Amino acid sequence: MRIVALAGGIGGARFLRGVQHAYPDAELTVVVNTGDDTTLYGLRICPDLDTVMYTLGNGIDEERGWGRQDESWRAKEELALYGSPTAWFGLGDRDLATHLRRTQLMLGGQSLTEVTATLCARWQPGATLLPMTDSQAETHVTVVEDGQRKAIHFQEWWIKHHAALPAEAITLVHHGDLLPAPGVLEAVEAADFVLLPPSNPVVSIGTVLQVKGIREALVDKRVVGVSPIIGGAPVRGMADACLAAIGVETSAEAVGRHYGSDILDGWLVDTADVGVTVPGVEVRAVPLLMTDLETTAAMARAAVDLA
Ligand code: GDP
Ligand code: CA
Repeated sequence: MRIVALAGGIGGARFLRGVQHAYPDAELTVVVNTGDDTTLYGLRICPDLDTVMYTLGNGIDEERGWGRQDESWRAKEELALYGSPTAWFGLGDRDLATHLRRTQLMLGGQSLTEVTATLCARWQPGATLLPMTDSQAETHVTVVEDGQRKAIHFQEWWIKHHAALPAEAITLVHHGDLLPAPGVLEAVEAADFVLLPPSNPVVSIGTVLQVKGIREALVDKRVVGVSPIIGGAPVRGMADACLAAIGVETSAEAVGRHYGSDILDGWLVDTADVGVTVPGVEVRAVPLLMTDLETTAAMARAAVDLA
């Protein structure tokens, strides 16, 4: 069985662990959001790629849901003591090595796709991880701060401001056509079906869908999505602030309708949201809380059954 999944960070990564547990023989390709990526201190940082890589490679900090287990924060503390204006960004000492190595390889001329494969040789995630694109594309958020309207990087809005400044717009900024990374469209083409894990519908899945050709490729595929919204609220994080920015209500029904029958064939919602309808899409309700690996594997089976 060949499966392609689009993914952001924690929601995507945890769900994919369930997919691998339920279908150990499946050939899994993950197309990962890179709109959250940033350059700090000269280091290229790819939060969603790292979250998926560490989670599937058993190196993630389970409680935090991002970064490395057994982490320490000495470099970050030192940066704060220097008064670094970006010391709010969570850079753990072990995690730093990933960014250092990625940057070293990229300065040597490798593409992000090639670098990701090199980093994954260590982590053995059991899946092919592909960045959505090898080009730079950054999610910017338009906010008003101290009476002044400005666009800030997604990470500044999400981490420094905890998404508390109302977002007037969320924009993926790039030059010219945003082309998919090598292998992305080929993987979708070869897949038996595509899964949309319970990742953020705006700044994770929504970003991947803006890459040229990906949305079109999904129209011809069987696609099943899993709702990140249960009972009118995100399970974790601040997806409601992102949905508000694009004028979509925070509910499993509204997110399913936002993806729509162009993309979706099936939509999984939680049992708390039984009765949700999306025109032209088969909706099923199953427990969607990823409390442990068995529950998550059951979610994956329900998604694959629906596909
Ligand atoms: P991020 O890039 O780390 O924010 O990660 P994602 O975009 O992949 O995932 C964030 C989304 O995962 C949030 O909108 C959460 O609501 C969702 N999420 C987290 N845990 C669960 C869970 O146990 N069940 C469901 N259904 N969604 C979850
Ligand atoms: Ca992310």
